[in-house]
Amino acid sequence: MQNQSKLALITGSTQGIGLAIANRLSLNGYTVILHSFEAKDIGNRIAAELSSSTGGIAYYVQADLTNVSQAEQLYAQATTIAGVTPDVLVNNAGTQFTSPIESFPTERWDAIIAINLASVFYTMRAAVPAMREKKWGRIVNIASVHGLVASVNKTAYLASKHGVVGMSKGVALETATDGITVNCICPGWVETPLIQPQIDARAAQFGGDLDAGVRDLVREKQPNQRLSKTDEIAQAVAFLCSEGAQGITGISLPVDGGWTAQ
Ligand code: NAD
Repeated sequence: MQNQSKLALITGSTQGIGLAIANRLSLNGYTVILHSFEAKDIGNRIAAELSSSTGGIAYYVQADLTNVSQAEQLYAQATTIAGVTPDVLVNNAGTQFTSPIESFPTERWDAIIAINLASVFYTMRAAVPAMREKKWGRIVNIASVHGLVASVNKTAYLASKHGVVGMSKGVALETATDGITVNCICPGWVETPLIQPQIDARAAQFGGDLDAGVRDLVREKQPNQRLSKTDEIAQAVAFLCSEGAQGITGISLPVDGGWTAQ
């Protein structure tokens, strides 16, 4: 076991990449705080399941990130639940919606900017003072290849993820002498519920064949021709949180099977 005394808050961690990160950090000895907008009984059950499978301590905090005051209070709420301030902050919560710009709904734009971008600002703003005081902190923001390059029909997602990449570099510079590192991970396609609507749309072109839909999706952009597994993203997060990564700050690490090498 390592990092027995460290506390990690992972946003959007009741499923997908966030749950895999919570699981991996828990296996590495961190106490973890899961988060989602889902009801407390659901979140507490997921935290209890994680705790019994890893043997670590896991809490749950509920906050809807489309609500500014809930997003602003998330870090303080997590601190209250755990009794100490988190040493590690992983901003992972995210949502997606695809549409050509001329028909992109305003409410979808607002939700994507609130969840994917604004909440990252609120949690980092709340986390930095305590990390500065401790002279130690790790912030890892789960951006996307779409923080680095573009695809069609994703204006809001692109704006949010490019924003996260830029904002993270700025906070990395502001905290560079404080023992704090701030980095992004930029996944390509990862096997999670987030991309299911895009897989379904491709599958429809192949008579509903989901495997054919996935093959078509990855063939277009991801040279290694496979979806990444959630734990592959989680292992990258764990590395950036380690002592050995103290010298790495302000980077955006693609985990994308070669997508952005093209
Ligand atoms: P997912 O849909 O499986 O999980 C998203 C998480 O965000 C959930 O836990 C959900 O509870 C939380 N969330 C959504 N809306 C929320 C709200 N209003 N308030 C609070 N929490 C909310 O998605 P995922 O694929 O695991 O995505 C995780 C992160 O990885 C996202 O930031 C996403 O943009 C990014 N990402 C995913 C992929 C991919 O291919 N899956 C690729 C690149 C980047």
